[in-house]
Amino acid sequence: MSRPPAITIRKGAEESVRRGHPWVWRDAIVKGVAKTGETIQIQSESGKTIGVGLFDANSPIAVRVWALGERPPTLDHNLFNNRATAAFRKRASIFADGKTTAYRLLNGEGDRCPGFVIDRYADTAVLRLDGDAVASRAEDLTRGLRDALGAIGITSLILRGRKKEAELIFGKMPEKAISVREHGVPFYADVKDGQKTGAFLDQRENRARVGEFVRERPIGKRRVLNLFSYAGGFSLHAALAGAHVTSVDIAAQAHATAQKSFQLAGLSSKDHTWATADAFLFLTEAEKKRERWDIVICDPPSLAPNEKAKARALAAYRTLHKGCAAVLAEDGIFCAASCSSHVDAESFTTTLDDATLGRELTMTDIFGPPSDHPTLPAWAEGRYLKFAVLR
Ligand code: SAH
Repeated sequence: MSRPPAITIRKGAEESVRRGHPWVWRDAIVKGVAKTGETIQIQSESGKTIGVGLFDANSPIAVRVWALGERPPTLDHNLFNNRATAAFRKRASIFADGKTTAYRLLNGEGDRCPGFVIDRYADTAVLRLDGDAVASRAEDLTRGLRDALGAIGITSLILRGRKKEAELIFGKMPEKAISVREHGVPFYADVKDGQKTGAFLDQRENRARVGEFVRERPIGKRRVLNLFSYAGGFSLHAALAGAHVTSVDIAAQAHATAQKSFQLAGLSSKDHTWATADAFLFLTEAEKKRERWDIVICDPPSLAPNEKAKARALAAYRTLHKGCAAVLAEDGIFCAASCSSHVDAESFTTTLDDATLGRELTMTDIFGPPSDHPTLPAWAEGRYLKFAVLR
């Protein structure tokens, strides 16, 4: 086989790649070019091969690194298959109790298959491909995937693109939302049209935690406010634990899905409050009316799409958090989440300080991504999810 083309990267980037960071930014390339999707050898300025990756001619991420070493393995379907099956084995032990049927099977970079994400919803899997390089090689690299998925009981695979409609790769396209479970709690996930691959699976452990927070409180102090509630994941866990829940989302469709999940879980959605509203305005109004909740959850969509938007995002988090603190009852619990990768954990916690909240809370925990969303030590970008708990 012919040797793949080589690109040379700067010293700083070389160090980062050697530490295990899976991306080479375009401006780190000193010389060399290839076609999008082509396998390339990554070389140091002194001409040594340090690894192998996939080249993207257009994205700011010029290379996604697959393996390190002077003689790295061939980047082919065998490498993909070995890594994917290793990832599936880890999930089998994490979810061995069978109480959770929706989870991430393969977390791209974190499972050393950069750009490939596979989420499981019962016997259906959803594949997401990040970037053109990955998309152009997907067919070739995933040649063994059908068998590997079949071995763990998956009968259908769907591809979800950034804009395009869901495409069926094998099996059958589900007609409606799929019913799945998280820690035994049932809910519907719309894998065809829902956000992400159908649900925000990264918040699973935090949803279960909210259920625990409710259970630890006296019966009369279980009023929960869930801001940016989407399909009602946090609401469901809170309601099953005995809370009265107010869910706020700007999209009426989100509440419709949430209410169906309430029904599936044996709850009456009529016993709870559903506000189709902008969360910022909702908080202003609630404060005026002196409303109070014992637990407030705030999980907005990513507020910083890029590094430049960071300052504005921090200001938006401050506004939200101040509003949440104002409606939090005495002895309350405030859960503040951020999924913006451009806002690191330390910056995020500055939006929860005393000056911002205007009251003295203590931070008991700050959780990161769950174990089915592994990251790499050198890849801080993978730890985009922050979930701070204040009391
Ligand atoms: N907490 C959810 C995920 C939240 S996703 C879960 O665990 O599944 C973000 C949600 O925020 C989306 O449903 C979107 O409709 C909603 N949203 C976006 N902007 C909003 C706004 N200004 N006010 C209220 N909801 C908003």
